[in-house]
Amino acid sequence: MTADPVATKHGCPFCNSEALRLWFISDVVHISCKKCGAQGPVVKLEFGMGKKTEAAEQAVAAWDRRPKPRKVKPLEDRLQENR
Ligand SMILES: [Zn+2]
Repeated sequence: MTADPVATKHGCPFCNSEALRLWFISDVVHISCKKCGAQGPVVKLEFGMGKKTEAAEQAVAAWDRRPKPRKVKPLEDRLQENR
């Protein structure tokens, strides 16, 4: 089980931290935020996938694909629009 610093295009969508770690835990890989603990999608190491680097690249791509949290209008505004 290792956790290596990893470079991604986007920081953490929750706390904007750039302190991200790439975790290898048995046969899965994922990225997590060191500051708030948010986790990216888990990538399973598949037989024949080759080196761990391929799974790591997929984990980074999956992290960067995550949508940014939407700004939600206050409830009061939305209620006004529906009148
Ligand atoms: Zn975070």
